[in-house]
Amino acid sequence: MSVLAVVGHDRGRIESASLGLLTAARKLAAQLHTTMEALTIGANADGLRDILAAHGASVVHQAHHAALVDFGPEAWGEVVAQLVRKCAPQVVMGSGTERGHEVIAQAAARLDLPAAMNCTEFDAKFDGSQALRLVRARWGGSLLEESELDAPVKLVTLANHMVVPVEAPASASVTIIEVELDAAVRHSFVRERVDRVAGVTLATSPVVVGGGRGVGSAEGFASLEELAKLLNGIVGCSRAVTNNGWRNHTDQVGQTGTRIAPDIYFACGISGAIQHWVGAMASKNILAINIDKEAYIVSKAAYAVIGDLHQVVPAISAEIRRRRAQ
Ligand SMILES: Cc1cc2nc3c(=O)[nH]c(=O)nc-3n(C[C@H](O)[C@H](O)[C@H](O)COP(=O)(O)OP(=O)(O)OC[C@H]3O[C@@H](n4cnc5c(N)ncnc54)[C@H](O)[C@@H]3O)c2cc1C
Repeated sequence: MSVLAVVGHDRGRIESASLGLLTAARKLAAQLHTTMEALTIGANADGLRDILAAHGASVVHQAHHAALVDFGPEAWGEVVAQLVRKCAPQVVMGSGTERGHEVIAQAAARLDLPAAMNCTEFDAKFDGSQALRLVRARWGGSLLEESELDAPVKLVTLANHMVVPVEAPASASVTIIEVELDAAVRHSFVRERVDRVAGVTLATSPVVVGGGRGVGSAEGFASLEELAKLLNGIVGCSRAVTNNGWRNHTDQVGQTGTRIAPDIYFACGISGAIQHWVGAMASKNILAINIDKEAYIVSKAAYAVIGDLHQVVPAISAEIRRRRAQ
């Protein structure tokens, strides 16, 4: 019996969401008076052992197979299913990323068990003997649903950015599992890898300068690019922008785009529709720049400038340059 954390990584580089996952899994394990164990999939993730130990894993299961060089949802789901059959954990927790959801869903289907995705809270009185009461974010975060997960093994994913990672060193032992995978699990696999952005991404950047319909055109983003560059940030946008073809979908923040959690989000000419807000609400600070003081994003922002972004954004950049030159 244990709480098993399924660690997300890309060829051995741990995803940031998995650190919060380890903290949440460790907390639940302590509540159940059991151990938190971690699963890494693919030999190229073996090097994560020390990080996992530093975050409280007492056992690290390392799944090995020649087909596990890159992420593959069916293969990863099958690995989780095989480990669950072998070790019978009480709870299996994946990260609230697209990959995390997919892996837990694959494992659930293979084990013929229910799964609860995007959980934000777990019952503090859960002792393993009853159904697990939990709260999960649904409809892009606009609804928080109280549910009960009644199954011999509880399969869940933790909503992203819900838990701040806290280290708690443990001396993790390692078990190597040689998994058996047949050709059917290679249905989806990585064919080619293309680096889109070097370094930080929209999801991880500490500064995001977002533009909405108010920017008015693709060319209008030049001043946002300039501000982002001055602050080592990244430009994001709303769906109105991608719908107009001004920016690529890869830049879109929101329910059907990327969820961001920067130290500061400059929301320029963005109204803050719920589908946008769910992708931006984990921002630690928001500065809204909008001509409409009643815009929803203004009500959610710590700071707001009511004015034309075409004047305000260049003025901010000019002020930053002026101060740096002093
Ligand atoms: C299923 C579904 C999924 C969706 N997913 C997403 C998603 O992932 N991400 C997303 O963003 N949207 C998403 N949407 C769309 C969402 O509902 C909104 O339509 C969209 O977010 C609006 O974008 P916007 O704020 O740029 O535009 P608008 O709502 O039109 O707002 C423009 C804002 O700019 C301000 N403005 C105008 N001119 C200026 C100026 N010169 N200076 C300063 N301010 C100015 C206006 O006052 C206004 O507040 C989704 C919708 C659906 C139905």
